Amino acid sequence: MWERSRTLFERAKTLMPGGVSSPVRAVKPFPFYTSMARGSKIYDADGNEYIDYCMAYGPLILGHRDQRVMDAVRERLEDGWIYGTPVELEILYAELISSLYPSIDMVRFANTGAEATMTALRLAKGFTGGKKFIKIEGGFHGAHDSVLVKAGSGATTHGIPNSAGIPEEFVISTLQVPYNDTEKLAEIIENQKEEVAALILEPVMGNASLILPEENYLKDVRKITQENDVLLIFDEVITGFRLALGGAQEYYGVKPDITTLGKIAGGGFPIGIVGGRREIMENLSPSGKVYHAGTFSGNPISLAAGYTTVRILQEEKPYRELKRKTEKLVSAVIDSVEDRGVNISVGFIESMFCIYFGGKPKDYTSALKLDSEKFMKFYWKMLEKGVFLPPSQYETCFMSTAHSDEDVEGTAEVMASCLKEL
Ligand SMILES: *Cc1c(COP(=O)(O)O)cnc(C)c1O
Repeated sequence: MWERSRTLFERAKTLMPGGVSSPVRAVKPFPFYTSMARGSKIYDADGNEYIDYCMAYGPLILGHRDQRVMDAVRERLEDGWIYGTPVELEILYAELISSLYPSIDMVRFANTGAEATMTALRLAKGFTGGKKFIKIEGGFHGAHDSVLVKAGSGATTHGIPNSAGIPEEFVISTLQVPYNDTEKLAEIIENQKEEVAALILEPVMGNASLILPEENYLKDVRKITQENDVLLIFDEVITGFRLALGGAQEYYGVKPDITTLGKIAGGGFPIGIVGGRREIMENLSPSGKVYHAGTFSGNPISLAAGYTTVRILQEEKPYRELKRKTEKLVSAVIDSVEDRGVNISVGFIESMFCIYFGGKPKDYTSALKLDSEKFMKFYWKMLEKGVFLPPSQYETCFMSTAHSDEDVEGTAEVMASCLKEL
C-alpha cells in the first residue's frame, strides 16, 4: 500500500537527520509522502486517499488549497513576492488583527510561531527587566532555547522533552508549573517575584495531547499575574482564529498582555505575529531597544494568504458549523466505545479534538500516562482505512470547513471499527 513512500524514506534517511525536516513527521517505520491535497483530502505518493484531520498541524482551517486563498496568493505573485520595503497589506492586516483582538494595539510580523514566542519573551524581559519567565510543563512554544524545557509535542513523542544543547542559564531561567494549578503558580511567583518577567502559556494546551482549562483557571491566572506585575503571554499560535475569531482570549474572556499568533494567521504560509499593548510593543526595535528583525518578516505572500483567510472567517463565521461537525464525530466515537469497558476517552473544544488512550488528562503529568503505543496502533489502522490523524498521541486533531458531513460520518464508522479491533 505504501511501497513508494517506504522507498522515498529510505533515501531521505541518508540525507536528512531522521529523514525529515521536522521531528513530528518521522513516523515509525516510515511516514507517507504526500503528492497533493484538496479540501478535506490528502493523497500520498502511492495514490492512496485519506480524509485529513492533521491539517498541517493547524493552519488549514479552510481545508487544503482553498480557491480564494489561492487566488489571493496568485494575484500577489504577479506583482513580485518580496521587496525589502513595507507594503500596504501590512497595515490592512494589522488593523484587522487589532480590531479582532482588543488586547492588541500593535503587531510585529515574523515568520514562524517559534520566532514570535522568542520575540515575545525577549520583549517581556526587556520591558520588565525580569530575567526569568514561567512556562507550563508540556507547553510547546516552538523550537528555541528558552522554551525547550519540558516541551510537549514532537519532543515528548521522541522522548526528549528537555533538549540537549541548551545552556544551563536558559534552563535555570525557565521556571515550570503544571497546567490547571494556580496554587503552584502563585507560590513560584511569590518566591521569585522580582525576577519573573512573564508567564507564557497556551490557553488551551494543544501540544501535549489536548488539555482544556478547568473552570476559571485562565481568569485566576490573569488575576495572579496582574497582581504581581508579571506579564501574561497567551501563545495563541493554535487557538488564534480557531476557538473564535478573537482566539481563546475572546472565547474565555481573558485579556493577556502579549499574544503570539501563527498557523491560521498565515493561511497555510509561514507566519508568526507578536501583538500587545502599545506601551509594551513600542519597546521593539526600531522604536525601542528590544531587537527583532527578519528578511522575510511581513512578506506579501504570507500576508495575502493570512489576511484573505481571516477575512473569509470574518465574513462566513464558520465556527458554529465547525463545532457541530466536531461534536458529531466525537459523539459517534464516544457511543462506539461506551459500554465496552475500554479505557478510551475523547475531548474536544470547537474544532479541536483528541482521542485519548486513557483518561482525559488535566496536565502534562497525566498526559504522560496515556498509552502512546496503543495510539500508534490505532493510527496505522485508521490510515489503512483512509483516515489520516496526526501521528502522535500528543497532537491534536483539527476539523476544517472543507470536511463534509459525509467525511464525518465515514470517519466515525472507520474509527468505531478500528477501536473495536484494538
Ligand atoms: C506550532 C506552535 C508553535 C510554533 O510555531 P512554528 O510556526 O512551528 O514555529 C508555537 N506555539 C504553539 C502553541 C504551537 O502550536
